[in-house]
Amino acid sequence: MAEKKICVVGGGLAGLVASIHLQRAGIHCHVIEKRTYPFHRVCGEYISNEVLPYLKSLGIDLAELRPSRISQFQLTSVNGNTATLPLDLGGFGVSRYQLDYFLFQKATCLGVEFSLNTECEKITFHDDNFTVQTNKGERSVDLVIGSFGKRSKLDVHLNRSFIQKRSPYLGVKYHIRLNNYPANQIALHNFQNGYCGISCVEDEIVNLCYLTHRKNVKTHGNIRAMEEAVLFQNPYLREIFGTAKFLFDKPETINEISFETKSPVVQHILMAGDAAGMITPLCGNGMAMAIHSAKILSEHILQYCRVGGSSRNQLEKDYSNSWGKLFAKRLWTGRQIQRLFGDVWTSNLAVNLALHAPRIANSLIKRTHGEPF
Ligand SMILES: Cc1cc2nc3c(=O)[nH]c(=O)nc-3n(C[C@H](O)[C@H](O)[C@H](O)COP(=O)(O)OP(=O)(O)OC[C@H]3O[C@@H](n4cnc5c(N)ncnc54)[C@H](O)[C@@H]3O)c2cc1C
Repeated sequence: MAEKKICVVGGGLAGLVASIHLQRAGIHCHVIEKRTYPFHRVCGEYISNEVLPYLKSLGIDLAELRPSRISQFQLTSVNGNTATLPLDLGGFGVSRYQLDYFLFQKATCLGVEFSLNTECEKITFHDDNFTVQTNKGERSVDLVIGSFGKRSKLDVHLNRSFIQKRSPYLGVKYHIRLNNYPANQIALHNFQNGYCGISCVEDEIVNLCYLTHRKNVKTHGNIRAMEEAVLFQNPYLREIFGTAKFLFDKPETINEISFETKSPVVQHILMAGDAAGMITPLCGNGMAMAIHSAKILSEHILQYCRVGGSSRNQLEKDYSNSWGKLFAKRLWTGRQIQRLFGDVWTSNLAVNLALHAPRIANSLIKRTHGEPF
């Protein structure tokens, strides 16, 4: 392998997995992460089983984290009609607090270098080299992986088009305890202008995570008032909120979640995970896509690093093509399925579809999961 300096900007799933993949193959990686592990993130924390063969090939065994095994899907409409379906491929539940910390420790053991609590402020490309500027200094590197998630200040510096448009979506997450919540079930409960996922992670902790419109909060003044006025219209959510023991002092929240299309290569930066494209949460498996994009990007980078390997131009072209083939359709499908949620009429249509045409419903669910890789 030719000696190349690689900087990974953002240590979420995509950045951590890419750094593990490359470091195992003998390419040294430096990860810049603005926070310090472990920390909570807004995420439903359900991961499709499609990722398991690849993680195993990287020597990552998540059984140590005691994840819940999820094989059943419950859907409820805004007014509480319900249907339950099996999940053919299924998945598992593990908190990002544990998962990202676990991957960070694996990466550290392999020799990945981390700059934590460090924010990347600017990335510039000139003379076939990058200058990566952070709040603590700057470095010159050959390749940059942009794995800085759905929305970052860097997107503003890079003048990406999606950042120019405001997005109305807001995400809210709690960890709760519920008596006798079925550990094998992921539920999607609809409410007006939003939907809420509920599933177990490790240690019988239950993740409650929902996506809604900013206007819902604006109308009711604050999150708690909105939950009581809007989410509680669904009798399942009213019951869950009424009986749950909340484990956080306040919910984790994020604003401005955008599902606009993005590009996997921007100013020569190779984007992975949500930085390359964000799937509608709970209608797709963003975590599996982040891991899968880290895999294909690492493979293309290894090709480039080989002595006499591909040129930068070829690397960027090949990665863009592979990314489009794998994910473009899936992102589109996620956006279409999301239209079935967040409204009385359409959410009842979705429940009726699940009750009376389970084969069609199963085929839709299948499209939100990829093939094992
Ligand atoms: C409400 C909601 C629910 C979801 N539920 C699920 C689910 O149940 N299942 C699923 O598979 N997916 C789900 N997703 C999607 C999933 O969370 C993402 O697809 C996944 O986290 C993407 O991983 P990533 O590595 O691309 O980004 P992230 O995990 O967001 O990591 C990006 C990292 O970059 C760091 N960073 C950002 N800017 C900088 C900077 N300038 N300098 C240094 N570091 C920086 C951040 O601190 C962060 O650690 C959900 C998303 C939302 C919003």
